[in-house]
Amino acid sequence: MKYFLFLNHPKGEEVYRVSEEREEMLREHFSRVNILETEVIMRGKRYKAIVDYTAFSNLANFDCFRCQDPCCADNPVIYEKVTREFILNNIESYNEKTKNIDILLESGYEVEEIVESIKKDSCMVPEETVENEISLCTCSFKPNNESVLCSLHSMCLEKGLGAKDIVEKKPLVCSLWPIDIISEEDESLLYITVPDDFTTGFTIEDYYDTPCVNRELTQSSKFRRKNPKGFLEDEYVPLIMAYGETLKYSLGEKFCNEVKERLLAENLIFAEELDIEEKQILKK
Ligand code: SF4
Ligand code: SF4
Repeated sequence: MKYFLFLNHPKGEEVYRVSEEREEMLREHFSRVNILETEVIMRGKRYKAIVDYTAFSNLANFDCFRCQDPCCADNPVIYEKVTREFILNNIESYNEKTKNIDILLESGYEVEEIVESIKKDSCMVPEETVENEISLCTCSFKPNNESVLCSLHSMCLEKGLGAKDIVEKKPLVCSLWPIDIISEEDESLLYITVPDDFTTGFTIEDYYDTPCVNRELTQSSKFRRKNPKGFLEDEYVPLIMAYGETLKYSLGEKFCNEVKERLLAENLIFAEELDIEEKQILKK
């Protein structure tokens, strides 16, 4: 099996391959929980999917502006053409945020080499500068001394683009993070879930340790000592709402509607919660 969202990771198979032990845990989990069989559309391609849908009623709060977790620490994919073109068309804004062009000029690269690197290199900067001169993910930037944000996302917002464009220009794994998708070897079937106490043994990393999907963690004094202002308890909402627009454009409307229907029918979310709008994706 493969971690589907990481199939295009610059480090290849060592990242996306699911170990036998984890595969066993995943199959065991999906044989025990209630599942929804549906279809998702990712980057224009249809896939059959089995969804651990109750996990989408877990509470989430993507308070990225007040987060200190390094979730943009490394490059998650070999970037798609659409991302490269977006950067080249908005190079000043990209450099203003990331400083990448200035850093490469200071390191002795010529303008033509830098442009060529954005067009061709896996991480859009020369290989030897990845996570060295260009620390963290190539596209990340620090708006202050605390948080790390995504320049692609911020550039979209500056240009007044909506959720659909943001999802198109950012790597899919970033839009969906930390939702996990695991596929059969031949990609004939996908298994979709969310990190929580039950799935954390087989999802790609121990993502449950992150504040956006773990409200309990954020209420501890240890967390509050580090982060006194973010992740307020009453700002957590069911994940299917917290990521409403993102899920619609990443996985398709059919997926969103069917998950919502099931959760409503089982009283895992309530009709009044359907009015909650996703805030994070359009937050500036
Ligand atoms: S996605 Fe989660 S871990 Fe990453 S910056 Fe946002 S709140 Fe923090
Ligand atoms: S969200 Fe943006 S900055 Fe963060 S890992 Fe993805 S591409 Fe990089």
